[in-house]
Amino acid sequence: GPHELALAEELARRASVAMDNARLYQQSQEAVRLREDFLSVASHELHTPLTPLRLHLQTLQRALAASVGGAGASRLMPKVDKALEQVKRLSRLVDDLLDVSRLTSGRIRLQLEEVDLVELTRDQAERFSEQASAAGCQLLVTTEGPTVGHWDRMRLEQVLTNLVTNALKYGAGRPVEIHVASSGGRALWSIRDHGIGIAAKDLERIFERFERAVSTRQYGGLGLGLYISLAIVRALGGDIHVASQPGAGSVFTVELPLEPARDSRTHGTPCLD
Ligand code: ADP
Repeated sequence: GPHELALAEELARRASVAMDNARLYQQSQEAVRLREDFLSVASHELHTPLTPLRLHLQTLQRALAASVGGAGASRLMPKVDKALEQVKRLSRLVDDLLDVSRLTSGRIRLQLEEVDLVELTRDQAERFSEQASAAGCQLLVTTEGPTVGHWDRMRLEQVLTNLVTNALKYGAGRPVEIHVASSGGRALWSIRDHGIGIAAKDLERIFERFERAVSTRQYGGLGLGLYISLAIVRALGGDIHVASQPGAGSVFTVELPLEPARDSRTHGTPCLD
């Protein structure tokens, strides 16, 4: 009867919607796969020529240094220095792309060892001093006694580099403060600036891949540093929090368990994913 017909029509309509949804889902999965493949291939292909390029420039730099006083050498030297600087900058961007690609496919392994966060912070702060004075910023480090845990030293240096680089970049030339403390079985590592700050609506988004606050479009960057940093810290069993006020500045707090994450005890080396 007409009732059965209406029911059959309704079922056919639903089946068609379900098939459309399945097709759309498949297409979006395919799009995600294509994007990951592209990221992986592109970052590897970009990475490959950079090492020989840097080596050639360094050879040129040494040759020029050896012939200082020679005609043209001292004129060319600053150009080679500049070229090397740009190659290093490009390498950092490509390394970030490679990390993101590896993070997505879970191909990064952590190397856990005993690390004193205070020592690490002081060592790294020296490395930043040139960058800080270029930005016209004062860099202050305060600590509260030794803060030792089992972490991946290089990866923590990378996290600090990302957060301090941001603080200097978005810090409006005002002082940047790094503080290390421990409390309740956790290390607390905070990086505070008094710069442009972050609008409330951007606070969640900035930890996502390629996401940047609209207000910072005029600064260079890919929007990967925070994504990578959070992935590293989470793999170590910790977390990153941010508090910020537009125009007043931001504080990023990294929390890390002082005891190794349960994962790393049961499965050996933890993997970022
Ligand atoms: P990048 O700095 O390369 O854009 P990040 O992932 O490190 O990438 O940061 C993402 C975005 O978060 C930045 O583009 C900026 O909009 C915002 N941001 C990060 N740190 C700060 C900070 N200290 N002050 C203001 N904005 C920040």
